[in-house]
Amino acid sequence: MSELRGIIDKYWEKVKEHRYWLHQHPEPSGQEKETSAYVAQVLRDMGLEPTEHVGGYGVTALIQGKGPGKCVGLRADMDALPLTESTGLACSSLNPGMAHSCGHDAHTAALLGAARALKQLEDNFSGEIALVFQPGEEYGKGAVLFLQVGALEGADRSFGVHMQSNLPVGQVAMNLGAENASVDHFTIRIHGRSAHVSTPELGADALYAAAQVVTALQGLVGRLKNPTDPALIGVGVLRAGEGYNIVAREAVIEGTVRCFSEETRAMINGKIADTARGVAALYNTTAEIETESFTRALINDARVYAETAPLVEKVVGRGNLVVKELSLGGDDMAEIMAVVPGVYAFVGSGSEAVPGSRLAHHTPGFDIDERCLPIAAGLYVESALSWLK
Ligand SMILES: [Zn+2]
Ligand SMILES: [Zn+2]
Repeated sequence: MSELRGIIDKYWEKVKEHRYWLHQHPEPSGQEKETSAYVAQVLRDMGLEPTEHVGGYGVTALIQGKGPGKCVGLRADMDALPLTESTGLACSSLNPGMAHSCGHDAHTAALLGAARALKQLEDNFSGEIALVFQPGEEYGKGAVLFLQVGALEGADRSFGVHMQSNLPVGQVAMNLGAENASVDHFTIRIHGRSAHVSTPELGADALYAAAQVVTALQGLVGRLKNPTDPALIGVGVLRAGEGYNIVAREAVIEGTVRCFSEETRAMINGKIADTARGVAALYNTTAEIETESFTRALINDARVYAETAPLVEKVVGRGNLVVKELSLGGDDMAEIMAVVPGVYAFVGSGSEAVPGSRLAHHTPGFDIDERCLPIAAGLYVESALSWLK
């Protein structure tokens, strides 16, 4: 560990420099053009041969050890959010309306730092390390596109980190089992027929039917599944109506489903469609349903967890590996881990010293306490080295 500590310290300034650049140049999901070019250039400067445009703007690179062996995939996401940053940092976003408010700049910088250390240590392991810089996490499509083009094919293990602002810097949260929920997005269009509001029987009221659908949906999680298996249906959009005295001819409902098991997920998505069609028919309207799957639930592999927990303690010290609160938010690292067994560690990035670092992710003032960077880099390095010994 002391050798590793020394190597990571050696690259500390570089890691910060990478993070500042990335933080100043946030790009939306699926449009990480400059970010990926920057990442590729940094990898080339280390003597690696990166592959660009992997499943969009993804970048991968291999670090070969001294002989044949297993392959470990280390993943960081790179995309930012459509927000106007209010941190007031010297390295604030230069791209209007875009900000790294989830900490993906920190993940990318930490993996670049880890890559430098691992390149230097290439004679200390056998096998290979696949560095995976994934685009498009925030819109839930990046990991799947990445896997579709064969990135990480044949890898034996996967590992990733995410910053966590409500966890103090110096701690890491990781669970034996589930950490994040699956995420699906649904759109329901109810088609009715206009009429004067004084003659509802001559029309078909899409607004009324939609209101009934919204209410009925909550019954699905309350009545149709085991209450000890958490799940959520959230409706964020309901649009209907053209005038106060006109029966609405169309209504649109948009929402999301979050679950921890594939069975519950399939059941709820099926019942949402049944509910929409059934309620719509009752009021002489029709319903059209579209469901988009963003990611499955993120569930750490039990064996990999058992192997990783001691490494985390090695990096942050005994007692600083804590249980991760279950989150109904999603992360598409889950799609990678479904193919390549792995774990996902949440790295504490909050402290009193940095006011913005305790704000929620996806808010304009979000910041990190930079001391989380060497911890994240250390976790990447430790997990790769220990699995490839
Ligand atoms: Zn996010
Ligand atoms: Zn994130």
